Amino acid sequence: MNNCLFCRIIRGEIPSTKVYENDLVYAFRDINPQTPFHVLVVPKKHVASVSEIDQLGNDEIAACLLAVKQIAADASLDGGFRMISNCGPDACQSVPHLHFHILGGRQMSDQMA
Ligand code: 5GP
Ligand code: ZN
Repeated sequence: MNNCLFCRIIRGEIPSTKVYENDLVYAFRDINPQTPFHVLVVPKKHVASVSEIDQLGNDEIAACLLAVKQIAADASLDGGFRMISNCGPDACQSVPHLHFHILGGRQMSDQMA
């Protein structure tokens, strides 16, 4: 996926503010934060969305969720946080590379959509 935006960010072809990285996962600050803390966690292997998550290995899936936990802990999001993965047009997914938003740093609405 040479032209995928997030694949290009993972490869370092497009600058990003790295928050976390290991062999399987990369995480960086969202360019247009919707909360004071807004980070994107992406698997290094390209899959489009949760609808294709079965194309990842269980280790890659686990690595994404463990990264979310670690990033939230490192950021001391003591009040909590929200993890969102938009999937497809009804959810307004705009970048077709699986990613998990970590949103935090302020009280959020009890309305999720
Ligand atoms: P989606 O709408 O697919 O759930 O989320 C895509 C996210 O990627 C959006 O929150 C958007 O602000 C972010 N984004 C889009 N382009 C870039 C970019 O070039 N760099 C960074 N860091 N984030 C981006
Ligand atoms: Zn990609």
